[in-house]
Amino acid sequence: MGARAYNFGAGPAMMPDAVIERIARDWQDFRGEGYSTLELAHRSEHFAGILSRAKADLRTLLAVPESHHILFLHGGATPHFAMVPLNLAREGQTADYIHTGYWSDKAMAEAAGLVNVRIAASAATSEFDRVPERAGWSLDPDAAYVHICANETIGGVEFAEYPDTGDVPLVADMSSCILSRPLDVSKFGLIYAGAQKNIGPAGLAVIIIRDDLLSRVRPGVPSVMNYARHVEWDSMYNTPATYLIWVAGLVFEHLLKEGGLVEMARRNAAKSQLVYDALNASRLYTNRIQTASRSRMNVPFFLREPRLETRFLDGARRRGLLNLKGHRAVGGARASLYNAMPLEGVQALVEYMTEFERKNG
Ligand SMILES: *Cc1c(COP(=O)(O)O)cnc(C)c1O
Repeated sequence: MGARAYNFGAGPAMMPDAVIERIARDWQDFRGEGYSTLELAHRSEHFAGILSRAKADLRTLLAVPESHHILFLHGGATPHFAMVPLNLAREGQTADYIHTGYWSDKAMAEAAGLVNVRIAASAATSEFDRVPERAGWSLDPDAAYVHICANETIGGVEFAEYPDTGDVPLVADMSSCILSRPLDVSKFGLIYAGAQKNIGPAGLAVIIIRDDLLSRVRPGVPSVMNYARHVEWDSMYNTPATYLIWVAGLVFEHLLKEGGLVEMARRNAAKSQLVYDALNASRLYTNRIQTASRSRMNVPFFLREPRLETRFLDGARRRGLLNLKGHRAVGGARASLYNAMPLEGVQALVEYMTEFERKNG
């Protein structure tokens, strides 16, 4: 095996070493039962324990109130772009969207055929360099919900605080920032997150939904797209992603042992500050996001000399600093600093950036 690399990829992202070691241990022989974890039966007592423990640990981590259900579903975050309108809005009803970049755009495009998508605020005119000021939003009090993308993974724009939307449920795509800091879940009607950023391997989504919203589902919505059905079946309407849920549970356990989300918030603030300080001090690298909206999870940056980009990325790879290439939609570089990225990895990145600038700046 090669030396452990620092994986700065936006997702599937780095996982904690302690969890990888646990997986390796139980991989072939699950708890001495003589079968692999991959064979874990969803009707087994073992899996029932795994599922309830994963839910309980997530509830503890995020202090999820009893009013909200937790679901583990297949298919990542994308299905929820459509499932949210199908479950929360009547046909032809209005839903407010806050337009902050690539992923909120995707959510709107997918919802457009299912609900009257209304852009209540947009940062398009400033090229998505910020979360639009709350004072400038024009919310419709009759909207079915307000949708935000809590952290734009590609643009590197994050909500520092979440808006109060009164009686209109707040819906958030938290794919790339869930579990990165404490959260007041009671502010939200629905939270959805693909797992491959801050939780575990790709393919799983975590949903947190307030009980009273379950009755809003439209008639005729297929069962696999119906949140109420999934709650009724406790995430086992069809065969759940047993292996992925097991791994997600190991991550939750690990986070609790490490001090929970207060500790994650402290570490994530320190890591992202290191990178932003380096960018601020640099004449070679730039980041054009307004300070108050800069993401602690995904830090996109550009080299003033685009011809140096390939050299920069190649040199990084040779040092075990992987997947720093920016998203194909925007180019440049991007460092993703999720929970599992250790401070040492970020220090190694900043050292490399400084050295590269000295040699090429
Ligand atoms: C990655 C990502 C998605 C898409 O997730 P999939 O699991 O690929 O469907 C959606 N929203 C955000 C904010 C993301 O970061």
